[in-house]
Amino acid sequence: MQKIFEDYKDILDKAFEVMEKAYAPYSKYHVGACIKTTDGKYHVGANIENASYGLTNCAERSALFHVYSLGYREDDIESMAVVTRGNTLGSPCGACRQVMVELLKNDTPVVIANTSSQAIITNIAELLPFSFTSEDLK
Ligand SMILES: [Zn+2]
Repeated sequence: MQKIFEDYKDILDKAFEVMEKAYAPYSKYHVGACIKTTDGKYHVGANIENASYGLTNCAERSALFHVYSLGYREDDIESMAVVTRGNTLGSPCGACRQVMVELLKNDTPVVIANTSSQAIITNIAELLPFSFTSEDLK
């Protein structure tokens, strides 16, 4: 597990940094995400809550939408990190997984880590098997 923190130090450091900037006055559950693009740049996103709750945007989607807004596409994404506080790994929610299956390649590494030094490396194919994709619309 320590090797994950070494191998993905930069992206995890940036994800933990942006986690502190989350706007989460209701849940107090701060999440940070960071995407490394193949040009060596890092792009962050945090969860942004809303008093209406349903309009809350998760950190994963904040980061992915930002990266796509800059013109990057799935082939330009090298890896993604998602981090939380606490003793459990904050795995992406269902809504984020559906967005991730659309915007990430199946084998793009997704590192999930927390402030308790736990970490795993997974990908969207593992997180959302038998998913609905553009292939189903053909
Ligand atoms: Zn989510």
